[in-house]
Amino acid sequence: LDIYDNVWDSIRHWVEAAPDLPAIDQEGTVWSYGRLGEAVRTLTDFLTAHDVAAGDRVLFVMENSAGAIAGMLAAMRLGAWAIPLNARLSVREIDEIRKHAGPRVTLYTTAVSKEAQAHAERHGAREAPSLKEAGLLYAPADGTVHRMPSFGPARDRVAALIYTSGTTGNPKGVMLTHGNLLFIAGRSSHARLTTPADKVYAVLPISHVFGLASVFLGNMYRGAQLKLVSRFVPAEAARSLAEDGITTFHGVPAMFSHLIGLAASSGQPVKAPKLRYMSVGGAPLDLALKQRVEAMFGLPLNNGYGLTESSPTVCMTMIGKERDDDSVGTLLDGVEVRMVDPASGLDVATGGVGEMWVKGGLVMKGYFRDPARTAEVLTPDRWLKTGDLARMEADGSLYIVGRLKELIIRSGFNVYPSEVEGVIVSHPDVSMAVVVGRSRDGNEEVVAFVQPIPGRNVTAEALDEFVSERLAPYKHPSQYLIRDTLPATPTGKILRHQLQQEAVGL
Ligand code: ATP
Repeated sequence: LDIYDNVWDSIRHWVEAAPDLPAIDQEGTVWSYGRLGEAVRTLTDFLTAHDVAAGDRVLFVMENSAGAIAGMLAAMRLGAWAIPLNARLSVREIDEIRKHAGPRVTLYTTAVSKEAQAHAERHGAREAPSLKEAGLLYAPADGTVHRMPSFGPARDRVAALIYTSGTTGNPKGVMLTHGNLLFIAGRSSHARLTTPADKVYAVLPISHVFGLASVFLGNMYRGAQLKLVSRFVPAEAARSLAEDGITTFHGVPAMFSHLIGLAASSGQPVKAPKLRYMSVGGAPLDLALKQRVEAMFGLPLNNGYGLTESSPTVCMTMIGKERDDDSVGTLLDGVEVRMVDPASGLDVATGGVGEMWVKGGLVMKGYFRDPARTAEVLTPDRWLKTGDLARMEADGSLYIVGRLKELIIRSGFNVYPSEVEGVIVSHPDVSMAVVVGRSRDGNEEVVAFVQPIPGRNVTAEALDEFVSERLAPYKHPSQYLIRDTLPATPTGKILRHQLQQEAVGL
């Protein structure tokens, strides 16, 4: 599996071996691998002419596009670090990351949001003839450029710097090496049995590690074609799945949920005649959603778990070994895990819940310019503490139980919000529940926010009785707060933190 030395080599293989093979379909314009190779060469020359060398950083303010892909490959080919940023971040967020990263050059995809355009204008971004075909603008450095020393085998050098928590004002740059990205690209595509005959609906943002390592690099590693999409529009996704010969679809739970909603409102199931593989990850998958999606497409929905710091895929359900529960699958080849009891620091027995620690070629180099935060999550022998609570069954199947920071410890007993939420949601009048902890008198209380099914009535007393019959007393919420809606992000992630704050104030 580990045959390539650097990311560009894994794509160059197809550029040289099969130049006519389709690589990218962007709004009907198809780039072959040969044409992609040409664009990478042009952009390499451009970057070199602008003084970009190994160890420099190149920032991309981007939406999914052929130009951004070629630009990132050109940067990596030079040994520079590609920093992909979602063009939908605000000007302030982009500025903060830019200041932290100190890039020599910033490239913008031209079809971007207002925020990115405002940023591009403010930094004097301009067109350059050699960037035209790739649809990119460029802005030179305007502050400190941190040039990093570059030595050692390419596999151990940084290829991409991925910023998470960009919104907290405290940017955290995850350094992923060529070896990290190749580890995931090679293993995930091997597990998915990807071939050059595959056409992938590539809508997950390539600025996020899932889109970058698993979708873009993972599929191109095996010569597949990407149908690049910069925004998820359910009706357009349904049309493309039906008409464009899509064989592979990677999404987050909210995307699948939108497709089910579309089918329900139109009375027509979404059709995907060529689809052979679909996967979901990045957030917990609701079992009922999984079942609906599988029934509609007549295919298993493969779940996968990971985080930016592990490039990202730790585990996934494997073809032919899918399960009908909410398992996140089994470990990728070469990955080790431990489940560590948060209180004692000791490994829990098989089947027990602990914080998942991960080791192997997928674990990041560290956080850029932040040794203190790096030491918080990476042990000296390079175990990555994921912050997720999980358990492993005797057959190797993994289950995510929740996040460590959401764990409630009541009188010394662990209460997992997901378990209590599961029970409340099984009440026939409830559509959603979120359980949070609240400190009171040196202990933690359990508080439940409950959203009834529209038109139904549910009382705190009824819920209390229902839960008391099903859970041990220390897991019972001390308060039930009934709400018409619960606060969520546009992608459907519940704003737990906001509810937690609210519970504290009550
Ligand atoms: P940030 O670091 O920016 O605050 P984040 O923690 O959501 O955001 P990511 O690395 O994108 O950053 O997300 C990883 C997290 O998403 C995991 O730690 C886990 O909690 C959750 N997750 C990912 N995949 C799954 C899955 N299949 N099932 C359940 N949870 C998942």
